[in-house]
Amino acid sequence: MNVLFVGAHPDDIEILCGGTAAIYAKQGHQVFFCVSTNGNVGSATLPPKAIAAIRHKEAANGAAVIGAKLIWLDFDDEFLFDSRESRLAFIEAFRQAKPDVVICHWRHDYHPDHSISSMIVDECVIMAGIPNIKTASPPVAGNPHIYFMDTPAGVGFEPEIYVDITESFATKVQMVAQHVSQNSWMKKMFGYELEVFLEIPAKFRGLQAGCKMAEAFRPSYRWGRTFREHYLPDARFPRMQPGK
Ligand SMILES: [Zn+2]
Repeated sequence: MNVLFVGAHPDDIEILCGGTAAIYAKQGHQVFFCVSTNGNVGSATLPPKAIAAIRHKEAANGAAVIGAKLIWLDFDDEFLFDSRESRLAFIEAFRQAKPDVVICHWRHDYHPDHSISSMIVDECVIMAGIPNIKTASPPVAGNPHIYFMDTPAGVGFEPEIYVDITESFATKVQMVAQHVSQNSWMKKMFGYELEVFLEIPAKFRGLQAGCKMAEAFRPSYRWGRTFREHYLPDARFPRMQPGK
Protein backbone atom coordinates (compact mmCIF):
# COMPACT_ATOMS: atom_id res chain seq x y z
CA MET A 1 0.00 0.00 0.00
CA ASN A 2 0.91 3.64 -0.30
CA VAL A 3 0.29 5.39 3.01
CA LEU A 4 0.23 9.18 3.08
CA PHE A 5 0.54 11.03 6.37
CA VAL A 6 -0.38 14.73 6.24
CA GLY A 7 0.79 16.95 9.07
CA ALA A 8 0.41 20.70 9.53
CA HIS A 9 3.93 21.38 10.79
CA PRO A 10 7.28 19.65 10.55
CA ASP A 11 7.30 17.11 13.46
CA ASP A 12 3.49 16.72 13.87
CA ILE A 13 3.40 13.39 12.05
CA GLU A 14 6.27 11.97 14.08
CA ILE A 15 4.84 13.18 17.41
CA LEU A 16 1.23 12.13 16.83
CA CYS A 17 1.64 8.91 14.85
CA GLY A 18 5.32 8.21 14.14
CA GLY A 19 5.10 4.78 15.77
CA THR A 20 2.39 3.71 13.34
CA ALA A 21 4.31 5.16 10.37
CA ALA A 22 7.35 3.14 11.48
CA ILE A 23 5.26 -0.06 11.52
CA TYR A 24 3.89 0.61 8.03
CA ALA A 25 7.44 1.16 6.75
CA LYS A 26 8.74 -1.98 8.47
CA GLN A 27 5.95 -3.99 6.87
CA GLY A 28 7.17 -2.85 3.43
CA HIS A 29 4.53 -0.24 2.66
CA GLN A 30 5.55 2.97 0.90
CA VAL A 31 5.17 5.80 3.37
CA PHE A 32 4.88 9.49 2.48
CA PHE A 33 5.10 12.40 4.90
CA CYS A 34 3.37 15.50 3.54
CA VAL A 35 4.15 18.60 5.62
CA SER A 36 1.74 21.47 4.95
CA THR A 37 3.60 24.45 6.41
CA ASN A 38 7.29 25.18 6.62
CA GLY A 39 7.45 25.94 10.34
CA ASN A 40 8.85 29.41 9.69
CA VAL A 41 7.70 30.84 13.03
CA GLY A 42 9.30 28.04 15.02
CA SER A 43 12.15 29.99 16.56
CA ALA A 44 12.50 32.82 19.05
CA THR A 45 15.89 33.83 17.65
CA LEU A 46 16.09 32.94 13.94
CA PRO A 47 14.26 34.82 11.13
CA PRO A 48 11.52 32.94 9.17
CA LYS A 49 13.61 31.89 6.15
CA ALA A 50 16.47 30.56 8.27
CA ILE A 51 14.28 28.50 10.62
CA ALA A 52 12.19 27.19 7.68
CA ALA A 53 15.37 25.91 5.98
CA ILE A 54 16.45 24.20 9.22
CA ARG A 55 13.04 22.63 9.70
CA HIS A 56 12.93 21.40 6.11
CA LYS A 57 16.20 19.56 6.74
CA GLU A 58 14.93 18.22 10.08
CA ALA A 59 11.72 16.98 8.43
CA ALA A 60 13.79 15.20 5.77
CA ASN A 61 15.89 13.61 8.53
CA GLY A 62 12.78 12.54 10.48
CA ALA A 63 11.24 10.91 7.40
CA ALA A 64 14.57 9.29 6.49
CA VAL A 65 14.64 7.33 9.77
CA ILE A 66 11.98 5.03 8.31
CA GLY A 67 12.62 5.66 4.59
CA ALA A 68 9.48 7.80 4.14
CA LYS A 69 9.32 10.19 1.20
CA LEU A 70 8.88 13.83 2.18
CA ILE A 71 6.42 16.09 0.35
CA TRP A 72 7.00 19.70 1.44
CA LEU A 73 4.12 22.09 0.67
CA ASP A 74 5.90 25.16 2.08
CA PHE A 75 2.91 27.25 3.20
CA ASP A 76 3.59 29.85 5.90
CA ASP A 77 3.33 28.49 9.43
CA GLU A 78 0.17 29.74 11.21
CA PHE A 79 -1.36 30.95 7.94
CA LEU A 80 -2.65 27.89 6.15
CA PHE A 81 -5.99 28.78 4.57
CA ASP A 82 -8.50 26.82 2.57
CA SER A 83 -7.91 28.49 -0.80
CA ARG A 84 -7.64 27.53 -4.44
CA GLU A 85 -3.85 27.57 -4.10
CA SER A 86 -3.78 25.31 -1.04
CA ARG A 87 -6.30 22.86 -2.47
CA LEU A 88 -4.27 22.53 -5.67
CA ALA A 89 -1.09 21.93 -3.64
CA PHE A 90 -2.78 19.20 -1.60
CA ILE A 91 -4.30 17.65 -4.75
CA GLU A 92 -0.82 17.53 -6.30
CA ALA A 93 0.47 15.82 -3.13
CA PHE A 94 -2.29 13.19 -3.39
CA ARG A 95 -1.35 12.62 -7.01
CA GLN A 96 2.33 12.19 -6.15
CA ALA A 97 1.66 9.75 -3.32
CA LYS A 98 -1.23 7.81 -4.93
CA PRO A 99 -2.36 6.79 -1.44
CA ASP A 100 -4.48 3.81 -0.46
CA VAL A 101 -4.64 5.24 3.05
CA VAL A 102 -4.34 8.86 4.19
CA ILE A 103 -3.80 9.80 7.83
CA CYS A 104 -4.34 13.46 8.69
CA HIS A 105 -5.10 15.64 11.72
CA TRP A 106 -8.40 15.53 13.59
CA ARG A 107 -10.95 18.01 12.28
CA HIS A 108 -11.28 19.76 15.63
CA ASP A 109 -7.64 19.81 16.64
CA TYR A 110 -6.26 22.71 18.65
CA HIS A 111 -4.47 24.68 15.95
CA PRO A 112 -5.92 26.23 12.75
CA ASP A 113 -3.13 24.76 10.59
CA HIS A 114 -4.08 21.33 11.97
CA SER A 115 -7.83 21.65 11.52
CA ILE A 116 -7.60 23.36 8.11
CA SER A 117 -5.16 20.80 6.71
CA SER A 118 -7.49 18.09 8.02
CA MET A 119 -10.46 19.69 6.31
CA ILE A 120 -8.66 20.06 2.98
CA VAL A 121 -7.52 16.42 3.08
CA ASP A 122 -10.88 15.02 4.14
CA GLU A 123 -12.96 17.03 1.68
CA CYS A 124 -10.59 17.43 -1.27
CA VAL A 125 -8.85 14.07 -1.59
CA ILE A 126 -11.49 12.96 -4.07
CA MET A 127 -10.54 15.85 -6.37
CA ALA A 128 -7.20 14.14 -7.15
CA GLY A 129 -9.10 11.90 -9.54
CA ILE A 130 -10.77 14.65 -11.54
CA PRO A 131 -9.02 15.13 -14.93
CA ASN A 132 -10.28 18.68 -15.43
CA ILE A 133 -8.43 19.79 -12.29
CA LYS A 134 -4.90 20.32 -13.57
CA THR A 135 -1.73 20.05 -11.47
CA ALA A 136 1.82 18.94 -12.38
CA SER A 137 0.95 15.24 -11.98
CA PRO A 138 -1.83 13.34 -13.77
CA PRO A 139 -5.08 12.45 -11.97
CA VAL A 140 -5.19 9.26 -9.91
CA ALA A 141 -7.88 6.62 -9.64
CA GLY A 142 -9.55 5.60 -6.42
CA ASN A 143 -10.85 7.17 -3.27
CA PRO A 144 -8.46 6.42 -0.41
CA HIS A 145 -9.48 5.68 3.14
CA ILE A 146 -8.97 8.63 5.47
CA TYR A 147 -8.15 8.31 9.14
CA PHE A 148 -7.63 11.03 11.71
CA MET A 149 -4.62 10.91 14.00
CA ASP A 150 -4.80 11.68 17.72
CA THR A 151 -4.59 15.25 19.02
CA PRO A 152 -1.71 16.53 21.16
CA ALA A 153 -2.19 15.00 24.63
CA GLY A 154 -5.35 13.33 23.30
CA VAL A 155 -7.52 16.35 24.12
CA GLY A 156 -11.05 16.14 22.67
CA PHE A 157 -10.32 12.95 20.72
CA GLU A 158 -12.30 9.75 21.20
CA PRO A 159 -10.34 6.96 19.47
CA GLU A 160 -11.95 4.13 17.52
CA ILE A 161 -8.74 2.41 16.41
CA TYR A 162 -5.55 1.74 18.36
CA VAL A 163 -2.18 0.65 17.01
CA ASP A 164 0.21 -1.11 19.38
CA ILE A 165 3.47 0.84 19.12
CA THR A 166 5.30 -0.87 21.96
CA GLU A 167 7.88 -2.21 19.51
CA SER A 168 8.21 0.95 17.42
CA PHE A 169 8.25 3.53 20.22
CA ALA A 170 12.06 3.78 20.19
CA THR A 171 11.95 4.54 16.45
CA LYS A 172 9.30 7.19 17.09
CA VAL A 173 11.56 8.87 19.65
CA GLN A 174 14.44 8.72 17.17
CA MET A 175 12.27 10.35 14.47
CA VAL A 176 11.08 13.16 16.74
CA ALA A 177 14.65 13.70 17.97
CA GLN A 178 15.62 14.75 14.43
CA HIS A 179 13.65 17.96 15.01
CA VAL A 180 16.50 19.38 17.05
CA SER A 181 15.37 23.02 16.74
CA GLN A 182 12.01 22.19 18.30
CA ASN A 183 12.97 20.00 21.17
CA SER A 184 14.12 22.80 23.45
CA TRP A 185 10.87 24.68 22.65
CA MET A 186 8.85 21.68 23.62
CA LYS A 187 10.55 21.47 26.96
CA LYS A 188 9.96 25.17 27.51
CA MET A 189 6.29 25.01 26.45
CA PHE A 190 5.28 21.73 28.05
CA GLY A 191 7.87 21.29 30.77
CA TYR A 192 8.78 17.74 29.74
CA GLU A 193 11.83 16.12 28.24
CA LEU A 194 11.12 14.87 24.72
CA GLU A 195 10.91 11.19 25.56
CA VAL A 196 8.56 11.79 28.49
CA PHE A 197 6.40 14.09 26.35
CA LEU A 198 5.96 11.19 23.92
CA GLU A 199 5.74 8.48 26.56
CA ILE A 200 2.77 9.84 28.53
CA PRO A 201 0.20 9.77 25.67
CA ALA A 202 1.61 6.48 24.32
CA LYS A 203 1.13 4.83 27.72
CA PHE A 204 -2.31 6.40 28.21
CA ARG A 205 -3.53 5.14 24.82
CA GLY A 206 -1.86 1.81 25.60
CA LEU A 207 -3.77 1.61 28.87
CA GLN A 208 -7.02 2.17 26.97
CA ALA A 209 -6.11 -0.39 24.30
CA GLY A 210 -4.75 -3.12 26.58
CA CYS A 211 -1.11 -2.95 25.53
CA LYS A 212 1.97 -1.16 26.80
CA MET A 213 2.01 1.72 24.31
CA ALA A 214 -0.40 2.74 21.56
CA GLU A 215 -1.33 5.45 19.09
CA ALA A 216 -4.97 6.28 18.46
CA PHE A 217 -7.02 6.99 15.33
CA ARG A 218 -10.53 7.27 14.05
CA PRO A 219 -11.90 6.91 10.52
CA SER A 220 -13.57 9.54 8.39
CA TYR A 221 -17.09 8.37 7.67
CA ARG A 222 -17.50 10.33 4.46
CA TRP A 223 -19.76 8.83 1.83
CA GLY A 224 -18.18 6.50 -0.71
CA ARG A 225 -15.01 5.88 1.22
CA THR A 226 -15.08 3.71 4.29
CA PHE A 227 -18.55 2.43 4.08
CA ARG A 228 -17.92 -1.23 3.38
CA GLU A 229 -15.64 -1.62 6.38
CA HIS A 230 -17.33 0.73 8.78
CA TYR A 231 -21.00 0.81 7.98
CA LEU A 232 -21.54 -2.93 8.30
CA PRO A 233 -24.15 -3.42 10.99
CA ASP A 234 -23.68 -5.80 13.87
CA ALA A 235 -24.88 -9.41 13.95
CA ARG A 236 -28.45 -8.46 14.81
CA PHE A 237 -28.93 -6.99 11.30
CA PRO A 238 -28.69 -8.60 7.89
CA ARG A 239 -25.15 -8.19 6.58
CA MET A 240 -24.44 -6.45 3.31
CA GLN A 241 -22.27 -8.43 0.92
CA PRO A 242 -19.29 -6.42 -0.38
CA GLY A 243 -19.64 -5.74 -4.09
CA LYS A 244 -23.41 -6.23 -4.15
ZN1 LIG B 1 1.46 21.26 14.59
